[in-house]
Amino acid sequence: MHATQLLIHNEWTDASTGATGNTISPANGEPIGTFAEASGTDVDAAVASARKGFESDAWQSMSPDLRGKLLWRIGQLIEENAEELAALETLDQGQPTFISTNISVPLAAQVFRYYAGYATKIEGKVSPVSIPDQLSYQTRVPIGVTGLITPWNFPLPIAAWKLAPALATGNAAILKPAEQTPLSTAYLARLCVEAGVPAGVVTLLTGGPEVGKALVAHRGIDKISFTGSTAVGQEIVTTSARDLKRLSLELGGKAPSIVCADADIDSAVQGNLQGALFNTGQACGAFTRFFVHRSKVDEFATKIAAAADSLKIGPGQDPDTIVGPLASEEHLGRVAGYVKSGNDEGAQLVTGGERVGGELANGFFYRPTVFTGVKDDMTIAREEIFGPVLSIMPFDDMDEAIARANNTRYGLVAVLWTQDLKTAHSLPKKIRAGTVFVNQLPLIDPGSPWGGFGMSGWGREMGSYSIDEFTEPQTVFINLS
Ligand code: NAD
Repeated sequence: MHATQLLIHNEWTDASTGATGNTISPANGEPIGTFAEASGTDVDAAVASARKGFESDAWQSMSPDLRGKLLWRIGQLIEENAEELAALETLDQGQPTFISTNISVPLAAQVFRYYAGYATKIEGKVSPVSIPDQLSYQTRVPIGVTGLITPWNFPLPIAAWKLAPALATGNAAILKPAEQTPLSTAYLARLCVEAGVPAGVVTLLTGGPEVGKALVAHRGIDKISFTGSTAVGQEIVTTSARDLKRLSLELGGKAPSIVCADADIDSAVQGNLQGALFNTGQACGAFTRFFVHRSKVDEFATKIAAAADSLKIGPGQDPDTIVGPLASEEHLGRVAGYVKSGNDEGAQLVTGGERVGGELANGFFYRPTVFTGVKDDMTIAREEIFGPVLSIMPFDDMDEAIARANNTRYGLVAVLWTQDLKTAHSLPKKIRAGTVFVNQLPLIDPGSPWGGFGMSGWGREMGSYSIDEFTEPQTVFINLS
């Protein structure tokens, strides 16, 4: 059993009330660990410590070079502990080993290396003002104490892609992982201490939504960087309005995949299958709404349903597993509810549509599910399911496909399948999504911005965008007269 505590001022401590929560294995429903359930008093202590850490000489006077070195060291430690971290991520989140080993952990290390390089390259500028005898220049200064609230689908890399730029820019950070999956983030906090982060600069608060709410409402927090559901993102906007906290919001998605008449169907089937079922569909960029040209829709549906059926379902620890469990029983119930709505509203179930039984019956496994005959106004075509459910819809011409793809309140990701270079270049700008992939799975790279239009959120993460998100521009006027 894993038992994690809170990290406040570089000291590990139980919650002040002694309360703990349980984390369970999605593969079999068994408890695998406990975490300290932070109280309001702990949140106050964490924020006070983070303020001290932010203002400390150790942090304020650390040169950009040394800050970069510190981040690099954290990245190295992630790599040195990769096997253990990947095992922990698979145990707690359920994701197949091929994902935790080849994507989640290496991406977390890569993000720290990327922002290690940035620490020495956060430049200002000089503005050509017209007032005589004045020098006006701008620098980017850290925002202060930041609350980093993360979801359960990719706990480690999402924590990393907030923490690394927060530290590169000189902020103090309070990590608040999801209550379902705290283990890898607690491990990351331990590696930060081992790397030499000054006291108060990295804090870990574990617990449920109440802890997140307390951070958002706390007057001592200057910025919230949140990844999670759109509903919680909206609540954060409302609560933080009182203090006009700085916000970055990476929220839900409902990605369209447009398969053109000229697409290579076999590669579109393979790419869409992986894009839809990666981490059992528990990815904000998961492909979910498949607009397939009418001339190809039957072939596409038959092939993708057969391919979905052939994928090995099992515990993430089994190296052959492609489709792991859903992250929690509650989430399994939500996905099953969406499938029921698809059936009730008249979509045709081609395959899947049920929980997996037999020796996997204690885990939260759900069969990859394909619907055809889906109408744009059905619940499964409108709402984020965050599970292994594909909705296939025919289209007749490109303008229609684009209009229907854009007919959503989300706008995180879209994908286009075509062999025509002109279509590949001319369509993305017509699609309202933060990232448009062409003939491609959903990819994330620290050098490329990530974020969405509409109700998929505010701001962008990665690249120079995260540097902007974690700093305020500050102008200085020097009197030269
Ligand atoms: P969630 O919104 O329920 O929870 C996310 C985090 O917020 C957790 O740590 C939770 O404890 C905390 N929280 C819950 N209520 C809160 C409140 N009122 N105030 C402050 N904090 C609160 O999301 P989830 O179910 O863990 O994650 C799934 C969602 O995350 C999906 O909607 C998915 O699309 C989204 N997501 C988006 C991205 C992206 O980059 N856009 C990436 C991954 C996941």
